Amino acid sequence: MQSDMKTPLLPGPSSDFSDSSEASEAPPPSPSGPVISIIGSGDFSRSLSIRLLSCGFRVVVGSRDPGRVAGGLFPDGVELKSQREAVVAADRMVFTAVFPEHYHTLLGLREELAGKVLVDVSNASSVGGRGRSNAERLAEMFPKSSVVKGFNVVSAWSLQVGAHDGSRQVLICSDCSASKASVLQLARRLGFTPVDLGGLCASRNIEEAPLILFPSWGRPVLTTFLLFLFFYGYNFFRHILLPYLDKGENNFYQLPLVTVNETLPSVALVTLAIVYLPGVLAALLQLVTGTKYQRFPVWLDRWLCSRKQLGLLSFLCAVLHAIYSMCLTLRRAAGYTLMNGAYRQVKAGVENSWVEQQVWRSDLYLSSGILGLGVLALLAITSLPSVGNALNWREFTFVQSGLGYAALTLSVTHTLFFGWNFAFYPSSYPYFLPPVFLLSLILPCTVLVGRLLLALPCLTIRLTKIRRGWESRQHRVKQSLEPGPVEEVEPSEIFGDV
Ligand code: NAP
Repeated sequence: MQSDMKTPLLPGPSSDFSDSSEASEAPPPSPSGPVISIIGSGDFSRSLSIRLLSCGFRVVVGSRDPGRVAGGLFPDGVELKSQREAVVAADRMVFTAVFPEHYHTLLGLREELAGKVLVDVSNASSVGGRGRSNAERLAEMFPKSSVVKGFNVVSAWSLQVGAHDGSRQVLICSDCSASKASVLQLARRLGFTPVDLGGLCASRNIEEAPLILFPSWGRPVLTTFLLFLFFYGYNFFRHILLPYLDKGENNFYQLPLVTVNETLPSVALVTLAIVYLPGVLAALLQLVTGTKYQRFPVWLDRWLCSRKQLGLLSFLCAVLHAIYSMCLTLRRAAGYTLMNGAYRQVKAGVENSWVEQQVWRSDLYLSSGILGLGVLALLAITSLPSVGNALNWREFTFVQSGLGYAALTLSVTHTLFFGWNFAFYPSSYPYFLPPVFLLSLILPCTVLVGRLLLALPCLTIRLTKIRRGWESRQHRVKQSLEPGPVEEVEPSEIFGDV
C-alpha cells in the first residue's frame, strides 16, 4: 500500500488490511506489528485490544494494578503491564481509555509520554457543555505529546464484533497533522471509515456526537405529534364525545383502533403537504424578491432542512394506516356489525344490497391509496444515504420532486374518492363540524394549486432565470442604494425541486 510507505509510523503488520472488518472472525495472526499501548483496562480497552490484536498489532495494556486484571479478561496476545511500562513499550501510539476525570492521575507519566501520540477516546458527559473539551484539557496537561481525538464514536461492542454500516465512521481531529494521519490510517486498518474533522477545536463536537439524540428530528416529530393530537381530538369530539352527550351513544370502544385509523391518514396527508409547502413558498419568495442571492428567513430555512424527516414521518403514518385498515375486519365489532346488518337485511326481505356506485368508490379509493403508498415507499427508500448517493442530481430531483408530487396527488385522490360526494350532504356536518377528510384536504390542495401556478410559463421562465443567477432590475437598484456584502447562498438553499 502506498500510504504505508509514506507513513512509517504504522508499518503494515500484514500485507493486506483492506477487508479487516472481517478480522474479528478470522483467526488472529501472530502479532508482529508496531506496539500500541492502551492505558486503562476497562471495557473499551479490552475491545480495542482484541481488535488491534486481530489486525496484527502488538498490544500492551497499562493498568494501575496489572495483577488484578491478569485473570483471563484480555486475550492471550495482550501484555499486561503497569501504566508506566506500557507507555514506555509503545512504539509511538498510546490510547487513554480512562474517564477524563482521572486524566490528572496520569500526570506522572508526562516524560514517558513526551513525543508520543496520545489518542483520547473519551465522550463528553453532557451535550452543550462550555469550556474546553476533554481532548483540549489532555493536550494542555501533556504539551510534549500530540493529542488526537478519535474512536469515541465507536462503541466497545462494535470494536469487538467489527464495523458494520451504522458504526463504520470514526471522527478524528488533531492539531498535529502527522499524528492525525497515523490515527486515520490506523482506523482504516481496523476496518473503519475515518473522517478528518480538522483541528482539536472540533473535539467538543466529536465528544458530544455519541450523546446527541436524533439530531434534526425534534421539530418534525413534534409537528407530526401535534397534528396527530389535533386530528385525534377532532375525531374524538365529533364521533364520540358529542354523540354521547347528545344522544347517549356509546362509541368509546372506537378509541383504540377506529379513531386512530381515522386520524392517521389525515396526519400522513397534511405532513406530506408540509414537505412540499416550503418549496412553493421559497419559489414565491424568489419570484417576489427577484433574486436567489438573498437568504431565506430562518424559519423557512429550518423548514426546508426538515423535509426529509417530515416525508419519512408521513410515510410511517401512511404505512400504519394501511396496516390498521387491513385489521379493521378482524375486529369483533366488525363481525357483530356485519351480522346485525345481514339480519336486518334478511328481515327486510332485501336479497341484493349491491350498490354499483359504492363498489366503484371503494375500489377507486383503495387503488389510489395503494399506489400513493407505493410511491411514498419509493421516496423513503431513495432518502437512504446509500441509495440517494447512487443517484445523480437529475435522478434525485426527479424522484424527490416529481414522484413526491405524484405521491401527494395520489394521496389527495385517495381522500377525494373516500369522501366521494358526502361533503355535499348536510348530514355530513353534525354539530356544524365538517368531516375530517375535508379538513385534511385544505393544505394539500393549496400546495398542489400553488405548484400548478408555478408551472405557468410566465412564472417558470422567470424562476429559471433567477435560479441561473439573473436578478431583477428592482433588486439591483435596491442593492446599489444599500451597499453591503451580497450573502452567498448555500447550495442547499437553492432548490430545483419546487
Ligand atoms: P471502564 O470500563 O470504567 O474502564 C476505565 C478504566 O480506567 C478502568 O478499568 C481503570 O483501569 C482505568 N483507570 C485509570 N485510572 C483510573 C482511576 N484513577 N480511577 C478509575 N479508573 C481508572 O470505562 P470504559 O467503558 O472502558 O471507558 C473508558 C473511556 O472510553 C471513557 O473515557 C469512555 O468515555 C470512552 N469510551 C467508552 C466506550 C464504551 O463503549 N465503553 C465507547 C466510546 C468511548 P485500571 O484499573 O486497570 O487502571
